[in-house]
Amino acid sequence: MSATKQLRIGIYPGSFDPITLGHLDVIERSAKILDRLIISVLLNSTKRPLFSSEERVALIEQAVKEIPNVYVEAFDGLTVEFARARGAQVIVRGLRAVSDFEYELQIAQINHKLAPEIDTIFLTTSVEYSYLSSSIVKEVASYGGDITRLVPECILQTVLDKYNKGV
Ligand code: ADP
Repeated sequence: MSATKQLRIGIYPGSFDPITLGHLDVIERSAKILDRLIISVLLNSTKRPLFSSEERVALIEQAVKEIPNVYVEAFDGLTVEFARARGAQVIVRGLRAVSDFEYELQIAQINHKLAPEIDTIFLTTSVEYSYLSSSIVKEVASYGGDITRLVPECILQTVLDKYNKGV
């Protein structure tokens, strides 16, 4: 790599309420093709999150601590503005099924309109995680089901504790 080569920086925006093994799969794979990946935790989501932004950031930090080029930050406002502020050229998103497609396409197109210098790249889910979402994790956990193979092991207890505390 020459000294003047521009770093490939990407952001991976989302709610991550909480981070799942599906998210982690996208993170590990995109971190291999980028020099730096910033996981960007949305504050202004229309969904009412179960975990506060501080909790969501802390859970992700635990899950990615072994991956050296991955960073975690909460952000508010437009995704493209956050991407610009961090010098990112790409926005990473994951695609599970056709049901994700229409929404993701709209977001990618409006973001490209707002910031033509930034591209959205999609990683298709690994098959074993195609059914997996934060909502599924919360649903299963709320009924006392086993979420062992749904979330990173290091955050398992924190997620279970949330429900044991009667959320
Ligand atoms: P958002 O509220 O922005 O959709 P999420 O945390 O639900 O935030 O998802 C963030 C991104 O991760 C989205 O692009 C979503 O499609 C992707 N994603 C979520 N779960 C999976 C999974 N199991 N496999 C691949 N991508 C996923």
